[in-house]
Amino acid sequence: MSVLADLMDALRTRRVEVVDLTAPLHSGTPILQLPPPFANASPFAVEEISRYDDRGPAWYWNDIRTSEHTGTHFDAPVHWVTGRDGEDIAQVAPARLLAPAVVLDFAEQSAADPDFLLEIDHVRAWEAEHGPLPDGGWLLYRTGWDARSEDGAAFLGVDPSPSRTDSGPHTPGISVECARWLAEESPVLGVGVETVGTDAGAAHSFDPPFPCHSFLLGAGKYGLTQLQNLARLPVTGAVVIAGPLPIVGGSGSPARVLALVENP
Ligand code: MN
Repeated sequence: MSVLADLMDALRTRRVEVVDLTAPLHSGTPILQLPPPFANASPFAVEEISRYDDRGPAWYWNDIRTSEHTGTHFDAPVHWVTGRDGEDIAQVAPARLLAPAVVLDFAEQSAADPDFLLEIDHVRAWEAEHGPLPDGGWLLYRTGWDARSEDGAAFLGVDPSPSRTDSGPHTPGISVECARWLAEESPVLGVGVETVGTDAGAAHSFDPPFPCHSFLLGAGKYGLTQLQNLARLPVTGAVVIAGPLPIVGGSGSPARVLALVENP
């Protein structure tokens, strides 16, 4: 049997399952909120063109408005100034959109400390137990944040009450040293997270600011954000299929992200 016929058979008999890692996309999808003077993205919006009516009697369709970085999305190297000479989203080779993935689970630590940071030692300890990070694959960083994705304030880690002086954002991320190491020394293709961006909520105050964006995109690597259902993936052995739109010159794109998982 051919490899692809065997795969189709495995999907039909559920030896291989498809897990959707994508958050539903709607007007309430939480988006990053940058403080002044920085410009912000618009919320996702749908505008009806026609719906079986005078404007189009037999068909229904919408215009959509979205930023490239809304909901579950793919960060291309050119998104960051350090990667400005790198690939835009349309230039990412299709073969790189299908890659092995491993899951590092720090949901417990992140629940106890919303500013939790992944360190090199955490990854080293994980590798001692599960083997090396995948060459050309994704490091998927589980924090439990997907459970919050329909509650904007909780998801973004901000305290909506104006009386608080420390209003956040507080969301887990990756330390400066670990981000540099993942970018420059590890074999991964990129990092996938459950949070609104690959960097911690407090990463604006790091040196350099937003180290995941800075180092990974600067090294020609990628980011995947607002993933869901990482808890349904095995620690090793899943295959991720990421489908960003090939926006010519674009810095990223909303993406449908799926995982293939082998049942025991
Ligand atoms: Mn992004």
